Amino acid sequence: MDLLVRNAHLYVDRGWEIPGGWLAIKDRRVHSVGTGGSEPAATRVIDAKGRLVTPGLINAHHHMYQNLTRSYAPVTNGTLFQWLTGLYPLWAQLDEESVYLSTYVAMTELLMGGCTTSMDHMYVHPKPFLIDAQFRAAREIGFRFHATRGSMTRSVDDGGLPPASVVQAEDEILADSVRLVEAYHDAGPGAMGRVALAPCSLFSVTERIMVESAKLAEVYDLRLHTHLAEDHDEDTWCQEVYGCRPVEYFERVGWATPRSWVAHFIYPSEDEITRLAHAGVCVAQCPCSNMMIGGGSADLMGLRHRGMAVGLGCDGSASTDHGSMWLEARTALLLGRYRNGPASMSARDALDAATRGGAACLGWDDEIGHLRPGACADLVLWQMSDVALAGAHSDPVEAWLRCGPAVAGTTIVGGVPLVEHGQPLMRALPDVLAGHAHHARRIQMLHG
Ligand SMILES: [Zn+2]
Repeated sequence: MDLLVRNAHLYVDRGWEIPGGWLAIKDRRVHSVGTGGSEPAATRVIDAKGRLVTPGLINAHHHMYQNLTRSYAPVTNGTLFQWLTGLYPLWAQLDEESVYLSTYVAMTELLMGGCTTSMDHMYVHPKPFLIDAQFRAAREIGFRFHATRGSMTRSVDDGGLPPASVVQAEDEILADSVRLVEAYHDAGPGAMGRVALAPCSLFSVTERIMVESAKLAEVYDLRLHTHLAEDHDEDTWCQEVYGCRPVEYFERVGWATPRSWVAHFIYPSEDEITRLAHAGVCVAQCPCSNMMIGGGSADLMGLRHRGMAVGLGCDGSASTDHGSMWLEARTALLLGRYRNGPASMSARDALDAATRGGAACLGWDDEIGHLRPGACADLVLWQMSDVALAGAHSDPVEAWLRCGPAVAGTTIVGGVPLVEHGQPLMRALPDVLAGHAHHARRIQMLHG
């Protein structure tokens, strides 16, 4: 064996936990799991010291570049649309270097919060090759990355929200989508990079982009992603421009398919939930972002009971301002119980959403989101202080989310430790942070 993690409370998958368990890794995959005394020999052994070990968490919705404008003072108290229109002119200054640096920082932060696979919804393209820069960062780190080719075509001149400086022509978007898929999408087992198509939202792209993206997804067998039913302003806008509700439009453009997962899904009607659940659409709930922006949030357990797979997302760094999937899981738990009562949701439900739910969103649950033998060796040894855990002796999974804060003590992606003792191992990080600070100040027009 290449690596053995022993003496753990091992959460293998929904309904399968091994107290005092071990997990053996060989050739970047989970080889076997078991209980104390039967461990195989391994080149390296990590003693988990009785702590919780889970599958790596999966981030189903993010905008990594937004960490360049975290907690940007002029818009912190705006509505979603005010916040967006205040930030678009800043994001118009993105270039390859700033996107590379922001992606590097975002992935490092995600690893420190126990996330081993993330999507990124990259929908601002003032310059070409920005997603190429993201793949450069992912490869340097060794992070499992599901990129999405986002897009915007409707500027204010066409009745949309963004300024002309951050939108693109339809044909340019479609050609770049094909280019990225052919260059980076690896449909094979154990892939470290995949690509999905992700027009930003119904109110920022034309109908043709929605329709053609769905067609391209069929041709190349890709996932489809967008924001849906995030804000009441969206209902009004859709009614005025398309003469229907957002979900009706989503169906009209051919997106109600098992390929699609949508971010937020806060304001669907009962009938719309039934229709999209029947179609196999998955949802990414973003609890912290939703609460920070002061709108509603999806009813995670309600949607699950209706048959929808629901994952969690930390959303753009400029709305949530953190990248910890542990914090998202904890907030999902609080929000679920606040909404539906104490019997409605457990820590295991939140963990299941952050693992299996995220994997379902990415169409990847054969290999990630669990630690069954044969799965990708993506896992986390959770670290909490002895003070925080004092008195928590009866249920390590509930303690993980109820006590806290928890950080990733060790994060392993594809059998390779990328965080140890709570610290990221990437040696380039100090230089990356210095470069990030430079670009964040440039983009925020802070001089001196
Ligand atoms: Zn978003």
